[in-house]
Amino acid sequence: MMENRQSNAEWKKRADQVIVGSYTRYPAVIVEGQGCRVKDANGKSYLDFLAGIAVTALGHCHPKVTAAITEQTAKLVHISNLWYTTPMVELAEMLVANCFADKVFFCNSGAEANEAAIKMARIASAEGRYKIISLEGSFHGRTLATVAATGQPRFHKGFEPMPAGFVCAPFGDLDALEKMVDDETCAIICEAIQGESGVRPMPQEYIEGIRALCDKYGIFLIFDEVQTGMGRIGHLFGHEYFGVTPDIITLAKALANGLPAGAMLTTDKIAAKMVPGSHASTFGGNPIVCAAGIVVVKELLSEGFLEDVRDKGAWMMKRLEDFVQRFPDLITGSRGSGLLVGATLTEKGIEHGAEIVNRMFENGVLINFAGGKVLRFAPPLIVTRDEIDEMLNVLGEVLSKI
Ligand SMILES: *Cc1c(COP(=O)(O)O)cnc(C)c1O
Repeated sequence: MMENRQSNAEWKKRADQVIVGSYTRYPAVIVEGQGCRVKDANGKSYLDFLAGIAVTALGHCHPKVTAAITEQTAKLVHISNLWYTTPMVELAEMLVANCFADKVFFCNSGAEANEAAIKMARIASAEGRYKIISLEGSFHGRTLATVAATGQPRFHKGFEPMPAGFVCAPFGDLDALEKMVDDETCAIICEAIQGESGVRPMPQEYIEGIRALCDKYGIFLIFDEVQTGMGRIGHLFGHEYFGVTPDIITLAKALANGLPAGAMLTTDKIAAKMVPGSHASTFGGNPIVCAAGIVVVKELLSEGFLEDVRDKGAWMMKRLEDFVQRFPDLITGSRGSGLLVGATLTEKGIEHGAEIVNRMFENGVLINFAGGKVLRFAPPLIVTRDEIDEMLNVLGEVLSKI
């Protein structure tokens, strides 16, 4: 494989000729990964404190995931959803056994899971109800409907007109939210912690208020747990963090540790409105993907795993609080839950945010600058305290040079 010996720069040049330029990419071509580390085409190693992008919860190339998908690959790679397969049944059983939901619809991504949730809410609602209310600062995906639901106008720019039926409420204001509910509203969609716009948690009273509002007006509460689900915030599901029960949840990112997986979960009563022909996906519930998902759920539910995620996250946030003392002109605090952690920045810190992330990258640590506001850390959930220390040491060095 001669080609593999080409450098980052050579690959980047080839990529820029043939790949649509819709991403701002770092100048590294990642060729392999193991646990919390990845390696680029030049042989440089990085500590991956983003887990891809909150995806590889069990770390890169987890041996049990590799074994499960290898075994399944030799058995059956695809059959259409006109038939059943065993991995999809097993994974769905494991998911519903651990939450309020009774039924699962499988698809391939977060946006698709949210599309399924939007369609579910509309078809299960009373006649004439179709509007979805989302929250300012939210992120729900890049398809036209999910981008319309995304409460950040910068994602709409150039793609208008947006599909009809989506309205956005100011974050944290229950009265304003209630005023937006009318007899055409079918659902409110929110994230337990807004990931993309800067690791912004929902206040407990706010989410309880939203639940009460949904009950009062008979509308559905959709939790987009694409990022916060699957152990990321220290619980199997994002809503467990609040003890509030939604009507519909969506999962993706970590669901199959890096294979393309998405799922929409809901109750029997709501799911009953999806009948043969209502909705479909060619690849949804793919046997290889579900075989990986089964391993993910088993590992997350293994003795002490999620407790350890909460402990490591709390410890990391506490260590980040020390940075407020050390770098008061840059860092103001930390927020998040489990291993979805943000370091909040001063105005000067925000100004230098992209530079901080770039220097971390140069120093071999991958993090990102979420929403142009907050340094986001979302390492594999198997990260060790030593690796957290290593990341914090590099961060300390980088910040001391800003
Ligand atoms: C990443 C993300 C999505 C979109 O998922 P894709 O798999 O990229 O379509 C939707 N909602 C939230 C909260 C996300 O973090």
